[in-house]
Amino acid sequence: MSEHATDAGIDTTQLTELAHASSAVLGQRYASSLLGVFGTPQRVLVRGAGCHVWDADGNQYLDLLGGIAVNTLGHGHPLLTSVITSQLATLGHVSNFFTSPTQIALAEKLLEISNAPAGSKVFFANSGTEANEAALKLTRRNAGTPQAPRTKVIALEHAFHGRTLGALSLTYKEKYRAPFAPLPDNVVWIPAGDEAALRAAVDETVSAVFIEPIQGEAGVRLLSQDYLRAAREITRDAGALLVFDEVQTGMGRTGSFFASAPVIPDVMTLAKGLGGGFPIGAMIVFGEENTTWLTPGDHGTTFGGNPVACAAGLAVIHVIENQQLLTHVQDTGAWLREQLAGVPGVAAVRGAGLLNAFELDSASAPALVAAALDAGFIINATDERTIRLAPPLVITTAQLETFIAALPQLIAGL
Ligand SMILES: *Cc1c(COP(=O)(O)O)cnc(C)c1O
Repeated sequence: MSEHATDAGIDTTQLTELAHASSAVLGQRYASSLLGVFGTPQRVLVRGAGCHVWDADGNQYLDLLGGIAVNTLGHGHPLLTSVITSQLATLGHVSNFFTSPTQIALAEKLLEISNAPAGSKVFFANSGTEANEAALKLTRRNAGTPQAPRTKVIALEHAFHGRTLGALSLTYKEKYRAPFAPLPDNVVWIPAGDEAALRAAVDETVSAVFIEPIQGEAGVRLLSQDYLRAAREITRDAGALLVFDEVQTGMGRTGSFFASAPVIPDVMTLAKGLGGGFPIGAMIVFGEENTTWLTPGDHGTTFGGNPVACAAGLAVIHVIENQQLLTHVQDTGAWLREQLAGVPGVAAVRGAGLLNAFELDSASAPALVAAALDAGFIINATDERTIRLAPPLVITTAQLETFIAALPQLIAGL
C-alpha cells in the first residue's frame, strides 16, 4: 500500500485508474486476473440506477435479467442502500457465537411470510448452493434404520441446485457433474412434473425429494400446484422430507412471496432475490419436528446471518410489502407474457410473475442475446432456443415496452 493513503485509509490509485480504463483494457485485465470459469464477460459494468446499468464506455442497458433474479429492487435502491450502510456503520459482523436484532428480525419475518407453523426455524447462509448444502445435510439425517435405511435422494430431470459438491450431486446436467466425480451418488432423477413417476420413486428408501417449483436454469419450466401438492402428500406418506428450492423463484419473483405457496414443504431454500444484490441465503425448516434433524455442532457458517446481509433482506421484504410489489409483479408479468406471445418469431412463452422465458423458432437464442445487448437490453439464453427474463421486480410496463418494441426487429435481424 502506498504511503499516500487517502482519508479512507486505502490506496485508491489503482481503483481510479481502472474506473477510467476502456472496456477493451478492462477485458484484457479481467482475462489475466480472473479465473476463466465464466467465459468472456459480455460487458464491463460500472454503474446502475433503477432498472438500468451502464458500461465502461458509457452505454446504457435496460436490465431484464436483474443479476439472474437477484436485483429485486433494481440497482442503487435508496432504502436498500441506506439500510445496508447504516447497519454496516452500526454493527457489521459478529461471529455466530453471538446474534443481532437484525438477524432475529429477518428470521421472524421469513417465518411470517412463509406461513410457517409454530416451531419452524431459519438457518442463514450466503448463497443458494450453501442453503442447499444445509438442506442436504439436514435431510441426510432422515436416514431410516439399519434394517431399513433411507439411502436415496430424489431430484428432478433438468434440476439445478448449485455448484458445490453436495448441491452439484443433485444437479441434473451431466456436463456440470461428470468432471468432478466422485460426488454423492445416491441421487435418482425422475421426469419433472410426472406425478406417477414421483409416486413410483418415493418409498421408504428415500430420505428426501428436492424440487424447484419452477425450474429456472432449465429455461423456466413450471410445475403445477397439483404436482407440488401431490409431492407434499407422497413424501409425507413415505416418510421422506420434501425440499423446495426457491432460490430463484422465492422473494416475490413469481408474484407471491414463494412460488410453491400455499403448499408447505419440510424445508425451503432461498438466496438470489432475498438480499436484493447483497449476498445471503437461507434455509427455512418447517415444523418443530424437522428442526430436530440438525442440532448444535451439526452445521455452521462464519458469515451466514451477518447483520448487514440480514438488514438487506429486511429492506427487500419491507419494500415488497409496502409498495404492493407482489400485485405489480403479477400484473406486469401477465402483460409481458401477452406481449411476447404476439411477437413474430416467438414460438412459446411461459413463466410466472417476472420469471419468464420465451422460445424462438430457431436455435438463435445466443445470437439474440448479443443483438439485444448491442441494442441496450440485457437478456439471457438458457439454451439455444430459450431466452429468460428476470428483471427487477420494480420494472414498469413502460420500460418493458421498450424491449417489446425492439424485439421484432432484433429477431428479424438474426
Ligand atoms: C442459482 C440457483 C442456485 C445456486 O445459487 P448460488 O447462489 O449461485 O449458489 C440453486 N438453486 C437454484 C434453483 C438456483 O436458481
